[in-house]
Amino acid sequence: MSIIGKSSSPWTISLPHELLTLDTTDRLRVDTKSIELASRDFGKIVQEYPLAVLHPSSANDIATLVNFSYNSHVPFSISARGRGHSVRGQALAKNGVVVVEMTCLTSYSEESGIRVFRNPNEIGFSYADVGGGQFWIDVLVATLEHGLAPVSWTDYLYLTVGGTLSNAGISGQSFRYGPQISNVHEMDVVTGKGELVTCSKYTNPDLFYAVLGGLGQFGIITRARIALDKAPNRVKWMRMLYHDFSSFTRDQEHLISIHGLDYVEGSLIMHQSPPNNWRSSFFSLSDQSKINSLVSKHGLIYCLEVVKYYDDLTMNTVDEELRMLIKGLSFLRSFIFVKDESFIDFLNRVRNGERQLEAQGLWDVPHPWLNLFVPKSGIMDFNAGVFIDIIQKQNKTTGPVLVYPLNKNK
Ligand SMILES: Cc1cc2nc3c(=O)[nH]c(=O)nc-3n(C[C@H](O)[C@H](O)[C@H](O)COP(=O)(O)OP(=O)(O)OC[C@H]3O[C@@H](n4cnc5c(N)ncnc54)[C@H](O)[C@@H]3O)c2cc1C
Repeated sequence: MSIIGKSSSPWTISLPHELLTLDTTDRLRVDTKSIELASRDFGKIVQEYPLAVLHPSSANDIATLVNFSYNSHVPFSISARGRGHSVRGQALAKNGVVVVEMTCLTSYSEESGIRVFRNPNEIGFSYADVGGGQFWIDVLVATLEHGLAPVSWTDYLYLTVGGTLSNAGISGQSFRYGPQISNVHEMDVVTGKGELVTCSKYTNPDLFYAVLGGLGQFGIITRARIALDKAPNRVKWMRMLYHDFSSFTRDQEHLISIHGLDYVEGSLIMHQSPPNNWRSSFFSLSDQSKINSLVSKHGLIYCLEVVKYYDDLTMNTVDEELRMLIKGLSFLRSFIFVKDESFIDFLNRVRNGERQLEAQGLWDVPHPWLNLFVPKSGIMDFNAGVFIDIIQKQNKTTGPVLVYPLNKNK
């Protein structure tokens, strides 16, 4: 039986009529706007129309829907959608499917909000209980009010907690703390049977480890308990340039093997991938022209990016500590640049670029992005074969290319 016709979008099959008898019916949207929105993602490469979209008001709404599908004689698939900032349709759902808009949960009860628990004795055991549809930027703002913050991030913070925990959540802090999925104590998950289950490494560990990095295939995260640490006030943010890849990669690997830095990343700079881009505008105009001359000379430049956090207690020693940490590195001597930023502005650095691109109508465009882990043993070949022979020589890209090391044991 059908509850919707085919007039407003290209549906080819129908939702089971019984869905209308559930408590969630008034939160089930079939209007064109909701369907259209749930049919796209940031990548703009794939488009799939769901039959309906659930705007849940609680974890129970999600459990009811999943349980209904599980017990149905013709189960239908269901996909959670955070901000839909995947690039290959991961949060979309083909015909016969319901998309669950996780961000709708945030406007409801306590259970889907952000609650911070500060341990007065042992700072390391503070945590935040966060709804799966919350944005990381909101987690940051809420935890900073308590002088605390999560330890592992993504470069961009307008992504949902459930969305990045279904992948990994990787940034320049991952070498030290592991990805975001390594910094979760506990979760509430709606399983494929429609049961709401609490899991951690001690309770239901199979579910816990399947859902973390599980690409949304093992359950829907409705709450995550995120580890917090004392938040710094400010950061020293440094970039150093290289024209020799082997020195660049050796220095990066060295920096993640020692203790002291809080963030290590890196990127390529070329004419078609300039020093400043939407990801962060770091360099002054005069620095940019100096760097562009270097790019003209060498064609391809490697930029090592590091950050050291500091606060009132360490503000007088941070520069010296940083100087010691980078001592012996092989960057080009006159190409070292330092900025001093607030912690929140550093973490939220991509937001300005997003706003600028949005204003120029260049944010909502296709994003054929690719992430790869390359083993250390192959990184020199990767540089020669991909960075030099394809990207540089064939002038193949017009966007940022990031390249940074991770510790396998994290
Ligand atoms: C500008 C930009 C910068 C980025 N930078 C980084 C970066 O630095 N590091 C990094 O690691 N990633 C980065 N990403 C990628 C990003 O982390 C992933 O695309 C992430 O999935 C997006 O989160 P989302 O909330 O939009 O999830 P969605 O795209 O909505 O969903 C992603 C996947 O998770 C599932 N899912 C969503 N919510 C839940 C839930 N509550 N429970 C279970 N499954 C769920 C979906 O079904 C889907 O499979 C970036 C993306 C963008 C657009």
